Amino acid sequence: MTEESLSPPLDAVRFQLNVLERAMAIAAMAAGAVAVGGALVPTPIPVLQLVANAVFAGLSLLLLALVRRHPQQSRPLAMLFFAAALALVTLAAILVPADPLRFCWYFGAVGAAFLIFGTRGGVVTTLVAMAAAVLVFVVFDGLSALSLATLLCALAAASLTFATFSMQAHRFVRLAMEAANRDALTGLANRRFFEAALSSLEGAAAPFGMLMIDIDHFKTINDALGHDAGDQVLSRIAGLLAADARRGDVVARVGGEEFAVLLPGADPPAVLAVANRIREEIAAAALSYNGTALKVTVSVGAAIAAFPVRLGVQRRADDALYAAKRGGRNRVVLATD
Ligand code: GH3
Ligand code: MG
Ligand code: MG
Repeated sequence: MTEESLSPPLDAVRFQLNVLERAMAIAAMAAGAVAVGGALVPTPIPVLQLVANAVFAGLSLLLLALVRRHPQQSRPLAMLFFAAALALVTLAAILVPADPLRFCWYFGAVGAAFLIFGTRGGVVTTLVAMAAAVLVFVVFDGLSALSLATLLCALAAASLTFATFSMQAHRFVRLAMEAANRDALTGLANRRFFEAALSSLEGAAAPFGMLMIDIDHFKTINDALGHDAGDQVLSRIAGLLAADARRGDVVARVGGEEFAVLLPGADPPAVLAVANRIREEIAAAALSYNGTALKVTVSVGAAIAAFPVRLGVQRRADDALYAAKRGGRNRVVLATD
């Protein structure tokens, strides 16, 4: 499996989506509370601002529902949400001069933007908030020069802090996904990743092939030369398998000396050709440990998931593998049922 696919962008996207959904829910609650509070209690906030809060609360809930329904459209929906949030705060700065702390809301928006959009989007959001503050100062006379200077400095400092935090958070997500999906010894995908990939292929309509590959008499390498020699052989075989894979194939270490390969879209002759190429390459590979030449072979069980037999591909590949072992090892068997 290729490097980038082991830290699936989907999981980073899920993290950002979760933050976005929470930010929208929190914004709806906060704006809703201002609107309802202003309607119930006498307040210097003008009716227009209270209505704007109510509209923003409703818009946030609507956008939240849309993001849940169409997560692939989350980016434009998030941009709309942030534009509305910054507009609401700026409107408050214009309409409610009695509230000198109304700019605090910019900081919440900037922090959320860094987590949701990443560094560039966070910086853009900060710059938009700064521009809006300057606009309030220049056009509407709603801010003293000293307050404006303090606000711009504080936004810049908060932006740097949030940038650091969001970069670390995204890095952490990437590392966590790597650790969860990659086999530590060989660097291949691990069993967890393989099973997720298999079930997503099984859930789709397209045919695919699967290979179960088991090193022959691997225990004798450990017994004769030690565990370290065995580990080195595993890494070399993994390297050969990874080098052989096309884009879109999944190559995983699924057990001690067992590997599995998923071949999306492959038909029986192609699957057999890949299996035989792998077997021949490994048998011909010049492997050695501390100067001792090693002859390593593998047995391969192959199976196809295609109409009308789509399910049970793993079991069929396993059965074929055992047939290859029984048949004398260093061979490929294609499941025929
Ligand atoms: P067969 O041809 O029937 O597959 O024989 P085999 O010796 O390969 O199979 P067996 O299941 O008897 O032995 C597998 C060995 O793999 C036993 C175990 O110690 C070794 N093994 C499993 N994981 C690792 C590992 O991470 N590193 C090393 N060095 N050895 C491992
Ligand atoms: Mg085995
Ligand atoms: Mg074995």
